[in-house]
Amino acid sequence: MEEYKLPDLPYAYNALEPYIDEQTMRLHHGKHHAAYVNGFNAALKRAEEARAKGDFAAIQAISKLLAFHGSGHTMHSIFWSVMCPHEASREPTSGELFDTIVASFGSLDSFKKHFSEAAKAVEGNGWAVLAYEPLGKRLLVLQAENHQKLTVQGSVPLLVLDVWEHAYYLKHQNNRAAYVDGWWNVVNWGEVEKRFASAKKI
Ligand code: MN
Repeated sequence: MEEYKLPDLPYAYNALEPYIDEQTMRLHHGKHHAAYVNGFNAALKRAEEARAKGDFAAIQAISKLLAFHGSGHTMHSIFWSVMCPHEASREPTSGELFDTIVASFGSLDSFKKHFSEAAKAVEGNGWAVLAYEPLGKRLLVLQAENHQKLTVQGSVPLLVLDVWEHAYYLKHQNNRAAYVDGWWNVVNWGEVEKRFASAKKI
């Protein structure tokens, strides 16, 4: 199987200014995300070596590395794709995603408030996540600690917001709330709608 690779950003490093600054984007994508890709590949290699040797003494450590770096890679890949320049960001006012948000949370504003509060309150490093849960065919707002903890298994992340300090500290220092509130200006709702259409087929 091929190794995982760092995906290109779908826009320029300065495209999300002023809400997310260029220097943060360069470090976040080129250093932090790249480290998760490398960590994921390294964990897979260790698992392969363990199988080859028949030595699973380190299986717990390998499994943790797989979950952490694997989720780091998948979450950042989603994160870049669900953002776009402010000029291209259009909040939905109709359509299936909009209707399901209203059915799940009462209104778009009510969802945004819930999601923002979840993001601001993540303990330490983590994410806020809007996920589609196929059994109930409903949307959930979740928090993820690190990249992989606290999820509802089987749910599909549609919109994710990175609230690790590396995502905002250069520009906002300790003011995570300002970062979260400004971030809504660069949400790529069209991509969220596409992800929702795919997730519903599960
Ligand atoms: Mn990050």
